[in-house]
Amino acid sequence: MHELAITQSMLDLVLEEAKKAGAERVGKINLVIGEMSGIVDQCVEFYFEFLSKDTIAKEAILSFKKIPTQARCRNCGELFIPKEFDWSCPNCQNSQMEIVAGNELYIESLEVE
Ligand SMILES: [Zn+2]
Repeated sequence: MHELAITQSMLDLVLEEAKKAGAERVGKINLVIGEMSGIVDQCVEFYFEFLSKDTIAKEAILSFKKIPTQARCRNCGELFIPKEFDWSCPNCQNSQMEIVAGNELYIESLEVE
């Protein structure tokens, strides 16, 4: 049900922006989703179709841009993409790190008519 709430707030935002732009129809929605956000594209598409059916966004195409998870080592500053079961730094083997990318979830742009 995670995606339902997210899709609803995304749609609200899209409709608000479209209204501001004086649009009659939303053509395309470009979304940025980090790998770590746990969002499933198909779920968002499914809910979007359901939620938008009586709105000007009902024919909108959803485009998903995926951002891979990226971490930075707190010890040596190395930037790397962590493996699923190995979250240690490939440079110094330290396991203290911060996530610098992968939690993204936002609308990058909107195409309206
Ligand atoms: Zn390191």
